[in-house]
Amino acid sequence: MEVRNNYINGQWQASVSGATREVINPSNGEVIALVTDSVAEDSKQAIAAAKAAFYQSGAWRRMAGPKRADLLLRIADAIAARADELAVMDTLDNGKPLREARCDVDDAAACFRYYAGLITKPQGGVYEVSDGFGPMHAYSMHEPVGVCALITPWNYPLLMAAWKLAPALAAGNAVVFKPSEVTPLSAVALFEIFHQVGLPAGTANLVLGSGPAAGQELAASHDVDMITFTGSTRTGQTIAAAAVGNLKKVGLELGGKSPNVIFADADLEGAVEWAMIGVFFNQGEVCSAGSRILIEESIKDRFVARLAERARAMSIGPGMKDPDMGAIVSAAQLEKVLGHIERAKQQGATLVCGGVRHTEGECAKGYFVQPTIFDNCTRDMDIVREEVFGPVVAIQTFTSEAEAIAMANDTPYGLAGGVFTTDGARALRVVKEIRAGVTWINCYNPTFNEAPWGGYKMSGYGRDLGVNGLLEYQQVKQVNINLQPGPVGWYQH
Ligand code: NDP
Repeated sequence: MEVRNNYINGQWQASVSGATREVINPSNGEVIALVTDSVAEDSKQAIAAAKAAFYQSGAWRRMAGPKRADLLLRIADAIAARADELAVMDTLDNGKPLREARCDVDDAAACFRYYAGLITKPQGGVYEVSDGFGPMHAYSMHEPVGVCALITPWNYPLLMAAWKLAPALAAGNAVVFKPSEVTPLSAVALFEIFHQVGLPAGTANLVLGSGPAAGQELAASHDVDMITFTGSTRTGQTIAAAAVGNLKKVGLELGGKSPNVIFADADLEGAVEWAMIGVFFNQGEVCSAGSRILIEESIKDRFVARLAERARAMSIGPGMKDPDMGAIVSAAQLEKVLGHIERAKQQGATLVCGGVRHTEGECAKGYFVQPTIFDNCTRDMDIVREEVFGPVVAIQTFTSEAEAIAMANDTPYGLAGGVFTTDGARALRVVKEIRAGVTWINCYNPTFNEAPWGGYKMSGYGRDLGVNGLLEYQQVKQVNINLQPGPVGWYQH
């Protein structure tokens, strides 16, 4: 089986470790590829290449914005041209349904297009300043941060790569990218595209390997100017601690336990379907998953009955068959999800449906979990407090708007939240009170390249996407100009 390698300084190369790692199809447990298994030394080489590209050559950062934009547009076109292949890759690697992978590929191409457009728009500012030293003029300009390390998780392999690589490259940085070791395949394809469109050598470098072995060096290195990470809160804390050494800029998009608040006046059928999208989309492996449903007591029984009916009817199977729900990404994540389910049962939550591994027919060898609903959950239960990252939802009830808000915010996380009601003023009031970075009214989980994405509290800091997403990868420089060169007569002697 051919081994996929690192891409460093414009060259494909194996890790110095000489080791390889198997990539597993979670739908059947079979090995679908081999990738090189990097160690810290590989990351060091990639960092050195990025540093030379940024600080010595400077070809990319000095390239005029419109020219950089042209290359990003060519990357988007190349992603679109390989869309079918990339979607199959992410489906086989991650386990997600094929049509969801296709949406990811379209979004990834659109993300490169969005930042290609944005980088050519006006940036910076011009300031009226006081004339204490004589006539002066001040403006600010945006510059790339420098060497940026980007680390992504396994839930949206290609899309998370695009969320970080598109703005980082648009801004003119040099990057070292480490995808999750579990789902590295579409990242390799993306770097093939970078090579094909002719990104200057060293501008974008790919390191394939585990977090502790290859990723930690990216966080700790003093030659890295910025690290941005999407993944678990615990790993985010490790990365932020390692990054302190040279005070590099840090961006963290971490876990969540997001509330989906449903009032009695909501359109029930709509709320049920959006709640399903909220927690069963992508097998529930979504950082913003609406994994806590807070429902007004008077409609709870009707809502739960309908949600369970719809959940039981979901088709589960290999992503390539395009079921409603695919496989959990790995054996380790399957065990983690099943562990959460067992704890919820032990702690007294009422299992309404699911709650078991799904092994029927062609799912026998894969890592499938049935969509799972727990009712009668209380605030002290782990299922209410901890991120599961699987198709598992906890139901709690409230009787007033104030109680709903208090329950929504009763979490260390603050990534997302949703509100369902036909009372527009209440929807706006509640959303305003939810301490989270991404919120939805009468829908749950739609995400747009144009709008900023990121969390409050233990869900991290910094923003992906939108204008804010570009600003993360930029420094702002102030430029002050003396309009009347010569002595100003400040000193008497
Ligand atoms: P991690 O947060 O551990 O992994 C995410 C990324 O970080 C991967 O690329 C991983 O590498 C890398 N990484 C791990 N340790 C380090 C380190 N010390 N230094 C640098 N990089 C590192 O997530 P897991 O895969 O372990 O999943 C565990 C849980 O995290 C899930 O159950 C879920 O709750 C949460 N999670 C949240 C996500 C989100 O979007 N907010 C996404 C994914 C997971 P590698 O995997 O290659 O070792």
